[in-house]
Amino acid sequence: LAKKNLNEKFAYYEQALEASTSERLNMIRSLRHDFSERRLQVWFQPQLKLADRKVTGMEALLRWPDGNGGYISPAQFIPLAEYSGLIVDIGAWVLEESLRKLKQLQEKGLSSLTVGVNVSMQQFRSPRFLDTVLNTLQQFDMAPDCLELEITESVVMDDPSVVIDTLSKLREAGVKVSIDDFGTGFSSLSYLQQLPLDRIKIDRAFVTAVEEDQGAIIAETIVALGKKLKLTTVCEGVETEAQAKHMLEIGCDEAQGFLYARPMPFTDLLTFLTDDNS
Ligand code: C2E
Ligand code: MG
Ligand code: MG
Ligand code: MG
Repeated sequence: LAKKNLNEKFAYYEQALEASTSERLNMIRSLRHDFSERRLQVWFQPQLKLADRKVTGMEALLRWPDGNGGYISPAQFIPLAEYSGLIVDIGAWVLEESLRKLKQLQEKGLSSLTVGVNVSMQQFRSPRFLDTVLNTLQQFDMAPDCLELEITESVVMDDPSVVIDTLSKLREAGVKVSIDDFGTGFSSLSYLQQLPLDRIKIDRAFVTAVEEDQGAIIAETIVALGKKLKLTTVCEGVETEAQAKHMLEIGCDEAQGFLYARPMPFTDLLTFLTDDNS
């Protein structure tokens, strides 16, 4: 299952990168243009405690309007943003926008929520990254522990000693770090133990499969591993009550998925948070 998910991802990546060179360049050009015209958006998907469904925070997810009322899938344009290096500036903006919105929530009395921001390898590798994160927190006068950076296993395995060093500095500053899409990458378990992490996000593939024998075994094992390492476990892509029930039974702490809420613009998030939750 992990393999299927990984293959799917790889296929997306290949699809994006194998488009003809001119198509690719056109798309990069229009992404750069739309970014400079401030047409990109940051949407938010709530995260909840499985036990009582209290909202704990949300994940920031980039959206690129296609000009026809629709959106170009991140799976399609994130690889191009990475390939072109644009992700460094776009990512810095996503971080800024996420903290700006979190600040607005706090000012409305919705405190103690966290925001998760996805970080690509190119950003993480950039020598400016640590300063960018700390400066943005300072800009909004935010406590570092309301920010959670999401990195994937491929970021960790890119250059483990450098990554461990940067992660340690972020951790010292109080920023939270989670490992995204856990179980689909190839991270070595020995590194996992050395990494200063706070959360493991269990990939949707294992959550979808949790009602099958094999799928349940893997999800249970990841939750147990998380507990041993004293990490919070979060399951991604929960779509059914049965999946939620099962993940709760195996001891998973938090969840995110269409069952509770889809990613949404900030104004909708405000309504969602003030209506019946928290
Ligand atoms: P991710 O970080 O693993 O984000 C979770 C993805 O799962 C999101 O897809 C979300 O819409 C989707 N999702 C959430 N709940 C469900 C569910 O119940 N069912 C299903 N089928 N899907 C669900 P999205 O927004 O299309 O983003 C895809 C990926 O693009 C993200 O995966 C992340 O890797 C990347 N991405 C998105 N925004 C950013 C960003 O600002 N920076 C970077 N570097 N990458 C980003
Ligand atoms: Mg993520
Ligand atoms: Mg994920
Ligand atoms: Mg992902």
